[in-house]
Amino acid sequence: MIANPVPWPNGARCAVSFTFDMDAESILKIAHPKRAHSMVSTASMLRYGPDVAVPRILDSYRHYGIRQTFFVPAWCAERYPYAVEAMIRDGHEVSAHGYVHEHPNELSDDDERRWLRRSLSALQAISGEPAAGWRAPLYNFSDRSAELLLEAGIQYDASLMGDDVPYLLHTSRGRLLELPSHWAMDDWPPFMHSIDLDFQMPIQSPAAAWATWWDEFEAMWDFGGHWVPVWHPFLSGRLARWRMSHAMIGRMLDRGGVWFATLRDVAAHVRGCIADGSWTPRIELRPHGPDTSDIL
Ligand SMILES: [Zn+2]
Repeated sequence: MIANPVPWPNGARCAVSFTFDMDAESILKIAHPKRAHSMVSTASMLRYGPDVAVPRILDSYRHYGIRQTFFVPAWCAERYPYAVEAMIRDGHEVSAHGYVHEHPNELSDDDERRWLRRSLSALQAISGEPAAGWRAPLYNFSDRSAELLLEAGIQYDASLMGDDVPYLLHTSRGRLLELPSHWAMDDWPPFMHSIDLDFQMPIQSPAAAWATWWDEFEAMWDFGGHWVPVWHPFLSGRLARWRMSHAMIGRMLDRGGVWFATLRDVAAHVRGCIADGSWTPRIELRPHGPDTSDIL
């Protein structure tokens, strides 16, 4: 089913990388720069992420002895340094997710470069280590993001949705490793509801959300894929939802044949496989196809 399944370490059937985007109030600030301070209830919902959910999630990871990846807008790291320090202290990866959740594909060339540089240096000042990876806020990867990430020394991107396994983006500046996911793995569709943030969905039960995610896991396990949920502490870290996720991690461990790894470790592994010839990635050209703006 997958043309080029990855040879995962120790014969594992699939790789699992829980990724959490710790957006906190950055998404409110960017949506309502002048009114965010007056949206007190929505801000409290978002602050639940760093203040209540992150310690709970870290407890579960410690319980199972796994290390995973967090993407943190640098503004959130500056506002909640204790959350980032706790992630680092437990050996998790902290990677980049914009400065204040600005959308790269709505910025000029110069502004995208400036915000990327500012976000990387500000995040490193808190985490103490350079970010290995990047995820575009709201998947808003621009047609120049790949080149800018290579220029900035980023080792992988996690914003795109083009495969079930890692692949390479071939650009004028070199090749960027892509570690993809997709919307079915995101927790906004089942869990997000906010009038202030203009996103209103019928909220699903944890079991209904996990029915989708477990189907995705079974398929990745059967065919050698990489299971990458895109979750948010203020949504998936709520009590009933995280209780279920905690149990499901245990179920994955009981299944066996799963490599739990940070995206940074997955990136290092697949680069090693490419170097020794044990795996061949699909290569996609960036930009993809000719610019059609002149004919539309
Ligand atoms: Zn985000």
